[in-house]
Amino acid sequence: MSGHISFFDSVGNYVDKAASFTDIPPGLIEQIKACNLVLRLRFPVRVGDDYEVIEAYRVQHSHHRLPTKGGIRYAESVDQDEVMALAALMTYKCALVDVPFGGAKGGIKINPSKYTIGQLESITRRYTTELVKKNFIGPGIDVPAPDYGTGPREMAWILDTYQAFRHGEIDSIGCVTGKPVTQNGIRGRAEATGRGVFYGIRECMRHEDDMKKVGLTKGIEGKTMVVQGLGNVGSNTALISQREGDVRIIGLSEREGSIYNPKGIDVEQLLAYRKANGTIIGFPGTEHIGGPLAALELECDILVPAALENQITSENAPRIKAKIIAEAANGPITADADPILIQKGCIILPDFYINAGGVTVSYFEWLKNLSHHRFGRLENRFHHDQFNGFVNKIEEMTGKTVDKREREFLTRGGTEIELVNSGLEDTMITAYNQIRDTLKDHPNITDIRTAAFVCSLKKIASDYISMGIFP
Ligand code: NAD
Repeated sequence: MSGHISFFDSVGNYVDKAASFTDIPPGLIEQIKACNLVLRLRFPVRVGDDYEVIEAYRVQHSHHRLPTKGGIRYAESVDQDEVMALAALMTYKCALVDVPFGGAKGGIKINPSKYTIGQLESITRRYTTELVKKNFIGPGIDVPAPDYGTGPREMAWILDTYQAFRHGEIDSIGCVTGKPVTQNGIRGRAEATGRGVFYGIRECMRHEDDMKKVGLTKGIEGKTMVVQGLGNVGSNTALISQREGDVRIIGLSEREGSIYNPKGIDVEQLLAYRKANGTIIGFPGTEHIGGPLAALELECDILVPAALENQITSENAPRIKAKIIAEAANGPITADADPILIQKGCIILPDFYINAGGVTVSYFEWLKNLSHHRFGRLENRFHHDQFNGFVNKIEEMTGKTVDKREREFLTRGGTEIELVNSGLEDTMITAYNQIRDTLKDHPNITDIRTAAFVCSLKKIASDYISMGIFP
């Protein structure tokens, strides 16, 4: 934790700061900040010849929209405060990107690498059973997703356990998102958070006047990036930024340490190297510069902390040289480090905006599950025929022939992945421009985090007011 303040309290402090720029009644702000439901669980799991008591949580932070939504984390750091803080961030995140859910989060206090796959399955199924028994899961109640230490495999176990209890429930496949594509998941979910991080940074860097203020030219292309954490979010951010944004990845860090190559690191090859060798250290062409925190201090244009919270503190903040920090992880900058970085003129893209791609595509998956058909299935053939008609007409009117490849491109309907990625791109661009407009409307707000909280608070408050709960 940062200094003396807990993670949950630090989220509350950011909200208070933002609330002072709105006319939302203080009582309503208190309701918005409060965690509505906290489930604290202890259950036994058989490990070898004995039993182990597992500590777990599920927190539903806000019910102003239903279902509630948020990932499940498997980590030794999990405690009630952390899960409450992450659930609260989900509420503000969903509101910011217009995903109609309340915020939630789950956590199991384990180090997954210490258990066999069979034991992890038992833990996941037992946890899901507890959630079913307490009515804490369901497509209209609370919908978990992957987070740190979990992925599609765990989501498939959750779905299967839920369905065993709720046999015949027509929408049961919507009880969890981030499932494997073959188990009612959606294409593009696995890389959605990292892809969203890329779209968010790219949109931020499109604005010439904003970039001038930090001494950068506009555009993401050719800029240097450092990424901490090469799990789901970090590896996809690095890969997509390199492939689609022409970004130069000069530094990377994992648990085993940090590596650096000012000429750029090929991320795809590096990931293959880590898979084969169990480490990033020793990757050809790179220099080993220190422990997992060393990369954060490299001179670069964009820094992406994508591991866990509390990585940039008041201790190392004065040595951070990045011009833009994209908080791909939740809470990587502590509350006392934040003003130090702002003072230095750093642009901070806050977690509940920049990592919202995951929940956005989870929302698309949930919509797909409730509609019981793949996006594009109904309209693809129709659009294909319609576009063919247009091309025929253009050929007839101009007397020219459109070549075969061009015709194929112009007449195809969108595939699921194309529709998902375009919906994600639009969401990240729209939300960024809402935040930017809020900054313009409030000249006294000096940072993006506060402006983003103002956007979210206004939307949540208007929901409460329209429910008639607050006049
Ligand atoms: P993950 O488990 O897939 O990956 C985390 C990676 O960080 C692992 O490779 C781990 O070895 C590495 N790591 C751990 N400690 C480190 C350290 N000190 N230095 C460098 N690397 C370290 O987790 P993830 O899903 O990628 O989540 C990462 C962060 O992103 C978390 O804060 C999570 O809450 C947030 N997030 C995830 C999603 C999602 O869709 N998965 C969505 C939004 C936010």
